[in-house]
Amino acid sequence: MTALVIAEHDNQTIKTATLNTVTAALACGGDVHVLVAGEGAAAAAQAAAQIAGVAKVILAEGPALKDGLAENLAAQVLAIAGNYSHILAPATASGKNVAPRVAAKLDVAQISDITKVVSADTFERPIYAGNAIATVQSTDATKVITVRGTGFDAAAATGGSAAVENAAAVADSGKSSFVGREVTKNDRPELTAAKIIVSGGRALGSAEKFNEVMTPLADKLGAAIGASRAAVDAGYAPNDLQVGQTGKIVAPQLYVAAGISGAIQHLAGMKDSKVIVAINKDEEAPIFSVADYGLVADLFDAVPEMASKL
Ligand code: FAD
Repeated sequence: MTALVIAEHDNQTIKTATLNTVTAALACGGDVHVLVAGEGAAAAAQAAAQIAGVAKVILAEGPALKDGLAENLAAQVLAIAGNYSHILAPATASGKNVAPRVAAKLDVAQISDITKVVSADTFERPIYAGNAIATVQSTDATKVITVRGTGFDAAAATGGSAAVENAAAVADSGKSSFVGREVTKNDRPELTAAKIIVSGGRALGSAEKFNEVMTPLADKLGAAIGASRAAVDAGYAPNDLQVGQTGKIVAPQLYVAAGISGAIQHLAGMKDSKVIVAINKDEEAPIFSVADYGLVADLFDAVPEMASKL
């Protein structure tokens, strides 16, 4: 039994979600290999080889793999899939684009968004926006799995000494081409990797107020900034800050929700946070049902006061 983890990387470094996926792969019980598919990706392969618990790194390099196009990456996985009992990718935008293609071509059912490995063929995954946990068993010869990062601790990024083996790169599928990438420049921690998140909701009332009120608190705490969908839809915060069922799933050490009611779709994205602080002027707001610390207050007073006292 050997599991293959599809690494998410930028040709230089390995993204954190890969480390959580390695932990899930190790829990499946066999050896764990990591596929680094890219171009000029030797540094990323070396980083993957350092991950504790990884037995081998497969490095596939070629122009078709440079920009992570899902069609080509799926073809690369399929080229080596026969060697593996499990194929795992992080349940990120990239992993969710690749894994279903691999599962379909192998004619197996994909097992999505797992949060626990019960045994080599049985897994837990949240359903109904996290309100129930389904235990699913697969009899397929190859288990194709996406892994919810918040369900697994990150494997140690150092301590391993896996061998790096080269694999022939696939040719371009010709089905898609890379046009460009606009990367948001942000000095803050990435939302899904942040230890502290401060999130604002519709109550902020405008983009200006959102920045004016939330940014000083985030700065004081060295936190990432999140938002409810209502705040995003109203244009108070950019789309990539959305936390929830249709946004990012997060589980930081500390989550501060200001002016967020706590709709189930929002809770689905943050209720596994270790400590939840809610600030809301409505004492009946559902966010208080998951909060460890609740402050019934006007956020326009409470948030600046918190920031000033920190
Ligand atoms: P509201 O529900 O309007 O809450 C505002 C809160 O602010 C209220 O509780 C109010 O008491 C409080 N408030 C007002 N003024 C103040 C003040 N001055 N000080 C303190 N408190 C104040 N939502 C998400 O967040 N993420 C998702 O991923 C998501 N996905 C969805 C998917 C689907 C299919 C659907 C149908 C909905 C989804 N939603 C999602 C939307 C969700 O249902 C809610 O509409 C949304 O979360 C509400 O955002 P909010 O709490 O900011 O706004």
